Amino acid sequence: MTVFLQSDLSQFLKAMTAILASRAMTLAQKLDNGGRLIQDTVRAGQASVMLYDAETNQLKVVAATRPEIVGMTQTLSPDSVSGYVCTAKEPLLITDIATDCRFPCRASSYRTTSLISVPLLCGQSSVIGVINVSDKDGGEPFSKDDLDVLLEYAGWITPLIETLCVQDRLEKEKERYRELAQELEAKQQELLIASTERAELVQMVVHDFKSPLSAVISNMDLLSFLGPSEAQKPIIETAFKGASKLLEMIDEFLHLARLDEWQGRGAEPRPVNLSALVQAEVDAQLPVARSKDIRIENRCAVEAAVWGDEVLFGHLIQNLISNAVKYTPDNGRIILGMETWASRRASDPGQTVLKFFVEDDGPGIEDAYKERIFEKFVRTDTSRQSGIKGTGVGLFICRKIVTMFRGKIWVEDAAPHGSRFCVIFFVAETGEHPEFLP
Ligand code: ADP
Repeated sequence: MTVFLQSDLSQFLKAMTAILASRAMTLAQKLDNGGRLIQDTVRAGQASVMLYDAETNQLKVVAATRPEIVGMTQTLSPDSVSGYVCTAKEPLLITDIATDCRFPCRASSYRTTSLISVPLLCGQSSVIGVINVSDKDGGEPFSKDDLDVLLEYAGWITPLIETLCVQDRLEKEKERYRELAQELEAKQQELLIASTERAELVQMVVHDFKSPLSAVISNMDLLSFLGPSEAQKPIIETAFKGASKLLEMIDEFLHLARLDEWQGRGAEPRPVNLSALVQAEVDAQLPVARSKDIRIENRCAVEAAVWGDEVLFGHLIQNLISNAVKYTPDNGRIILGMETWASRRASDPGQTVLKFFVEDDGPGIEDAYKERIFEKFVRTDTSRQSGIKGTGVGLFICRKIVTMFRGKIWVEDAAPHGSRFCVIFFVAETGEHPEFLP
């Protein structure tokens, strides 16, 4: 008869808790070692732990003294000892299985006929599995004391096993999500590479259009000086204009592509010296301005750097100044200026706002177009009727650049006539740039 002492119990519980709480063992190893401990305590030749899987309605051996039976399953049925204990939710102490008519099909792999099976009861109603012991040392049958020991153990270890099962499930889920996340990341990377390669290829091809097109334009120009007939002249002129427009569109496309590329690779905003950029663009536009007797007054005197990208801001300023030169009639004047003020909104990416403006005394922008000219392909009626060439993409790009750095761009009327394009930037006062990208 097993004598169950208090000191045995506390020793057993200590050992069992150490096994179940171990971080180095898998769930199966924990149950295996736990089962061995139970087996030793009640001096059983064999022990096994079976867990119930409600999804498949099966009992599965998760730990056993006979390793060959680990992993075996049986559909839950009261015809087997474990199935009976699981469905009846009550323990069984059998002294002689051979004479127990409830289990006529009991396998004959046991040396002795006595066995105990106790349910792992979670709360009052649900069973998560069973613990079985058989083959008592010395061939004697298991006693009521053995059953009590096992019941006590079962009561202690059930919540631990339950927690472990949940942990195990969570671990598996976590692993599954980790794998999924890795797969997704790899796919995203592949897609990114594919789309970048495609975009680069398109850019290269489009860029390669430029040289043959420039050759067509200069040859057409040459042709017009070789004395074409009156009938040929308009044909050459139409072809020349078409090719020039195509070249301009290609340039705009390449600018847009560069912009997307900048956004795509999440480039870092850097401090940009705007006044220097403005002066460089004024110098670049001077020959065309002079050919139209347009005076450009550069009044930009603020030496502050603003957050942005030098290439993109160069393009922005060039667009605004070249538009002013393009749409201002001969003998006009263009004024460039800057001013700063303290930001009034805490959400602004800087404490100081810098406004840059380009003012001309050209035809101005009709009210109906003041917002729309920043959309793709929109041109004012006045500019269309004037015959001045344009694609309506430049200001769209300008707005894209400005909003990328959380600035603003708008147009207002200049007095007595003309337009004033204004852009807002943020002064780079600290070494670390604020968040710009969405
Ligand atoms: P593009 O000049 O190639 O047409 P933009 O996008 O730069 O393209 O400009 C869009 C339109 O805005 C122009 O077609 C023109 O109608 C109008 N616009 C731009 N700048 C001026 C300006 N300084 N004066 C008058 N109209 C302008």
